[in-house]
Amino acid sequence: MKTLSTETRRVMTPLGAMDYTLERKKVKNINLRVKHDGSVYVSASKRVPVREIEAFIISRSEHIRRAAVYFAERDVKKAPPSYTDGEELMYLGSKLKLSLIPDSREYAELCGEELQIHIRDTGNTQRVKKLADGWYDKQCKEVFFEIVLETHKKFVKYGVAMPQIKIRSMTSRWGSCHYTRGMITLNRRLIEAPRHCIEHVVTHEFCHFIHPDHSKDFYALLGAEFPQWRSAKAELEKTVIL
Ligand SMILES: [Zn+2]
Repeated sequence: MKTLSTETRRVMTPLGAMDYTLERKKVKNINLRVKHDGSVYVSASKRVPVREIEAFIISRSEHIRRAAVYFAERDVKKAPPSYTDGEELMYLGSKLKLSLIPDSREYAELCGEELQIHIRDTGNTQRVKKLADGWYDKQCKEVFFEIVLETHKKFVKYGVAMPQIKIRSMTSRWGSCHYTRGMITLNRRLIEAPRHCIEHVVTHEFCHFIHPDHSKDFYALLGAEFPQWRSAKAELEKTVIL
């Protein structure tokens, strides 16, 4: 729809001053949108007076603030770690604090809720990343394999053989099932999610050995083997942003 005019305005709300972009268009209602960077866009027809638009924004100010916070948190989760001392990392749904310890012997170790990186030069971010990645890769192998073993037990009754597991970095999916090759690929970032979220992905991929598509039968099987799959999926998508 054609934009007739655009202007940037400021309105006082109970939560403080709020800047917004007002677009005049031939629309029926007042439409409010919070962009991913937190900026506020409102479109309305020329007939709607500004005070009516601003009263609407004020009535929605709590929603706008929540949306902006949501997007900001999402950006933080999406950003790759900087591997600096004290940074928060995620592991199985819990926060880990990255702790850099000067040491002549280099290794990574979990101590309570701290991932300690013993390293000669704590300023060598590349090296910190390598040690931290190495630790995460080891956990991926252990945890994912354990979950696959457990899940496989549920699928023996369907005649599914123990698959081969591949762990990869993927930007658009949690896992995939190569049912003709008897292989399941899992996204290494799953290790950041709570265990039941990983179990859900593994069960989903196992179901593909029986139903390669996302048919009704597929979801019936997934529902039977993992009844809470919907909430696990929602939680996963909230916790780990690809
Ligand atoms: Zn699928």
